[in-house]
Amino acid sequence: MTNDTVATEEGLSKLFPKGDPNDAYAQFFIGQSYLAPLGDSQLGASNVTFEPGCRNNWHIHHKGGQVLICVAGRGWYQEWGKDPQELHPGDVVSIQPEVKHWHGAAADSWFQHIALAVPAEGASAEWLEPVDDETYSKLA
Ligand code: MN
Repeated sequence: MTNDTVATEEGLSKLFPKGDPNDAYAQFFIGQSYLAPLGDSQLGASNVTFEPGCRNNWHIHHKGGQVLICVAGRGWYQEWGKDPQELHPGDVVSIQPEVKHWHGAAADSWFQHIALAVPAEGASAEWLEPVDDETYSKLA
């Protein structure tokens, strides 16, 4: 179950909830994602679950960055102009403010990460264009 290359829905975290369909942000995702807030709102933490092939649009966290803690499955993180980075459980990604990026599942794998918003005055997210199929299909 914890084999990080096996990423059926069965292999999702037993520790953190999958949550509900992420309807509020669906417009900024390709594919189905789920969102489970962790703790209360002061923590700014959620467990995000991506079905295979699901990824968010390119986006920027302004003022405050974001930290991703990978929990289950296999996914991808990419910064604009850089090579994509394959993600496995236990990987931690520190995203600096103002860096354009996306994150999501591998094409053949469910994926879960905890997303932590780094607190900052006036922090916001700017959602940009989708990660198109041509870019996504080039991932190893
Ligand atoms: Mn992000």
